[in-house]
Amino acid sequence: MCANILAAVAWPYANGPRHIGHVSGFGVPSDVFARYMRMSGHRVLMVSGSDCHGTAISVKADQEGLTAQECAEKYHRIIASDLQGLGLSYDLYTSTMTDNHAHVTQEIFTRLHENGYVVKKAEMGAFEPSTGRTLPDRYIEGTCPICGYDDARGDQCDDCGRQLDPADLLNPRSKTTGATPEFRETEHFFLDLPALAESLTAWIDTRTDWRPNVLKFSHNLLEELRPRAITRDLDWGVKVPVEGWENEPMKRIYVWFDAVIGYLSSSIEWARRIGKPDAWREFWNDDDARSYYFMGKDNIVFHSVIWPGILLGTNGRGDKGGEPSAELGILDLPTEIVSSEFLTMSGSKVSNSRGATIFVGDFLREFGPDALRYFIAVAGPENQDTDFTWEEFVRRVNFELANEWGNLVNRSISMAFKNCGEIPAAGELTDADRELLDASAGGFDTVGDLLAHAKFKAAITEAMRIVGLANAYISAQEPWKLKDNPERRDTVLHVALQVVSDVNTMLTPFMPHSAQKIYEALGGEGVWAAQPELVETDGAAPILMGDYASEKASWGRREIAVGTLLAKPSPIFRKLDAKLAETGPEWAPVNPQS
Ligand SMILES: [Zn+2]
Repeated sequence: MCANILAAVAWPYANGPRHIGHVSGFGVPSDVFARYMRMSGHRVLMVSGSDCHGTAISVKADQEGLTAQECAEKYHRIIASDLQGLGLSYDLYTSTMTDNHAHVTQEIFTRLHENGYVVKKAEMGAFEPSTGRTLPDRYIEGTCPICGYDDARGDQCDDCGRQLDPADLLNPRSKTTGATPEFRETEHFFLDLPALAESLTAWIDTRTDWRPNVLKFSHNLLEELRPRAITRDLDWGVKVPVEGWENEPMKRIYVWFDAVIGYLSSSIEWARRIGKPDAWREFWNDDDARSYYFMGKDNIVFHSVIWPGILLGTNGRGDKGGEPSAELGILDLPTEIVSSEFLTMSGSKVSNSRGATIFVGDFLREFGPDALRYFIAVAGPENQDTDFTWEEFVRRVNFELANEWGNLVNRSISMAFKNCGEIPAAGELTDADRELLDASAGGFDTVGDLLAHAKFKAAITEAMRIVGLANAYISAQEPWKLKDNPERRDTVLHVALQVVSDVNTMLTPFMPHSAQKIYEALGGEGVWAAQPELVETDGAAPILMGDYASEKASWGRREIAVGTLLAKPSPIFRKLDAKLAETGPEWAPVNPQS
């Protein structure tokens, strides 16, 4: 049964290159999921883009002597190129700098305003004393008034998950200068979340299958919902579509508000770009469409409560009633929130601001995309905070990817090439042959079911278990000792190659680049796993798009074609120097003190 599936991927912030912690949260899991769903015959729309607004961009731009737009464009290009290199199969990866995005944001704002869910009031704003500019909430740190956590941010406490206001923090300090922020009164528009609380609670009560941590954070927030500012004092962002505010130089839509709307605006942009301007509606206006939102755990409540609140208000479904937007129709709320925990490095959060950082671009240049994708899937922070170490990375690549999977592929194809020159036919099958073939065929159900439920670590572990079975089978059958019994030898090699083909299909969502090579090594032609392309646009920021509908990969056994000519294979996975485990690479050395 074919479904329309929206894969809504968190928007990376364009104030610097992204590190491996970021892509382990939003990037790789969403791509594995989208690729699996496409292979299973569903229609998938995977969208995201760079989050380019907000004072954090202005701060970075000042540091680099650029305008906010130049700075956002610079990092958007780097991020888009990294995500393309990682093989993330976005149908559209765009940015919040487009006219379309501004229009959709303003339409949502206006609809919420007219429905009564946007209210104006004066609040205390935080300003950097040296520049007089708004301090973004995330640039203010202090002690959480609820749980006492020392490094709470102005918008949220990562420890207890509570939504905060900068003025709530005890001992607030500016993250960039350390100065105590100045708080002064300023007028802003607020999203009236309390007026949406009842319908939000009723809706969240229907989300019984959500992960426990998502439900916990959501219920925490629901207990204390209050109006949340959706405009800010700054000069970089979407203009506020209210009379008297549109031309106000220091009033803009607050960056968090326009960033979540990006899921919708990018879907609309995608539809226009493929020449079917209404195609996005099949993913947003259809009750049967499913939507999966991917993010790190620090973004859960934006997607599980606040974005659904915006959608309910836009649809006119809160305490104040209202009408849906004539242009946008009744918009679907999220089906599933797929969040990851944090990838840490030697005990401290890997981030731009706190300590050691391993950037995606550096990683890709040295190790290629699939080693990182494999590591994130098998050892990443899916269910708990996970410490990245070079030791563990080297161990996983050398002993699992190279020794287990790479070795199975390489020796199966090598032996078949050397002895037969082509994919050999099988003779009569023994119990051992059938057992392995059945286990491998069964993997499409077990691995597929785990992937459909976003259980990536369990899914890849199950696929690798079949690799182990196949290696044990070859060791037991010893085809290299069957020179005098070529029929039996060919049968063993045929079975081994069929399992290589099966497992390669199961691993395609995880490692699409090596999957393409293995598919070709088995004589396959054309594009097995399609990759995103970086497309330059006229005078605007580049985008990622891809032709995934025409890829050949599909979920299920492809019978290998007897007689297909084989070539001598080259190793698919390069073994890493064991020294790397102790030293790390030059660009991210292991700190001897940690
Ligand atoms: Zn707290």
